[in-house]
Amino acid sequence: MTLSPPLRGILILALLALAVAGCQGGASPSAASTGLRVVTTTTVFADIVQNVGGSRISVTSIIPPGVGPEDYEPKPEDARKLAGAGLIVSNGVGLDDFLDRMLSATGGQAPRLVLGDGIPTLTVNGEQNPHFWLDPSLVRRYYLPAIVGKLSSLDPAGKAAYEAKAAAYGGQLDALDAELKGKVEQIPPQNRKLVTFHDAFPYFARHYGFELVGVILQNVGQDPSAADLAALVDTVKAAHVRAVFSEAQFSPKLSQTLAQEAGITQVVTTLYNDALGPAPADTYLGLMRWNVDHIVDALK
Ligand SMILES: [Zn+2]
Repeated sequence: MTLSPPLRGILILALLALAVAGCQGGASPSAASTGLRVVTTTTVFADIVQNVGGSRISVTSIIPPGVGPEDYEPKPEDARKLAGAGLIVSNGVGLDDFLDRMLSATGGQAPRLVLGDGIPTLTVNGEQNPHFWLDPSLVRRYYLPAIVGKLSSLDPAGKAAYEAKAAAYGGQLDALDAELKGKVEQIPPQNRKLVTFHDAFPYFARHYGFELVGVILQNVGQDPSAADLAALVDTVKAAHVRAVFSEAQFSPKLSQTLAQEAGITQVVTTLYNDALGPAPADTYLGLMRWNVDHIVDALK
């Protein structure tokens, strides 16, 4: 069934109204009206910010779960999410540029927090890479203090609560990091090589000791040429890579082709990185654990 645009618009508004009602369930009316409304670009940042803000804030992600930010095309209703925002949180460094286009179109004036500001970047294929959060130590060291600082400046009465929640969450990140390092130890060192669909893993690879052999997609939204793919097949063969990984936000087709051409039998198509997925990858901690479990299973 195809709905005409007006009908589709009405349906979306109705669904949005339901979603808003669902989010407010359980909160007292005064808490709902005084809490800081935070809008993030992605579900990953929404989860991290919610862990710091707790019940003092409500958080909405513009991009839904399972969808990537680099080539995100804003929907008309996304502007409604921005309209009442008390704080807008993005990553920057080219990850979520769609937000700047939206804000210049809508003239939004809400305070902003750009999580990637001030984090030393790695350059991949001549571009600064934005995927800091796949290294939990960077979330701990940079994202959390930035979130605490911004929330506290907008809601000074909550400063102690934000600091306490960030400290507790930071503890969970440390425990996760130790757990993941232990899991990676199960992979023989010569097998710690990654080929992924897009270039999401440089900070992850640096932190956990993987070699990044190659990525299929140099630019999100632009398929590689046959020559690019052929060159990658040669690189992957020469490096004796054991598995090809693809992120759930993309079609696995090219990853499967690469694996086939390179004689690799293992293709993992369900890594989550720019967006949360279904449980147990529906939190940042769950996403990290899911990815490492799948990488370890394929390479050990
Ligand atoms: Zn990405």
